[in-house]
Amino acid sequence: MNIALIAHDSKKELMVQFCIAYCGILSRHSLCATGTTGKMVSEATGLSIQKFLSGSQGGDQQIASRISYNEIDLLLFFRDPLTPKPHEPNEMNLLRLCDMHNIPLATNIATAEVLIHGLERGDLDWRNIVNPKRY
Ligand code: PGA
Repeated sequence: MNIALIAHDSKKELMVQFCIAYCGILSRHSLCATGTTGKMVSEATGLSIQKFLSGSQGGDQQIASRISYNEIDLLLFFRDPLTPKPHEPNEMNLLRLCDMHNIPLATNIATAEVLIHGLERGDLDWRNIVNPKRY
């Protein structure tokens, strides 16, 4: 599956810890991320991650574009609702596109835990039917 990772600055360390904890599961999938999130996670875990631009440079829009093509199977987007960022309007687009294509989405670690266990259990295997050509 194609898994996309995005974390706001105050949630990046949490994302790193999450990815360390679930490194075994994540290593069996194809990962991409916004620039800084991807750099931090790959340095901490050794996971291979396709890094897009930094969020402020449009990295979230690059991920949104892949979501538009229904190429992302799971989005883990750890948001900080308390610290608005100048580029935040794009985030609503990201969430909207996930809803358009029924792409499983976690905006906090609690949901991410549920989804990662579901992924491991095969609950998201239907995504292979939606878009089988990628495997
Ligand atoms: P980053 O993008 O991973 O490049 O920091 C996400 C964000 O803008 O918060």
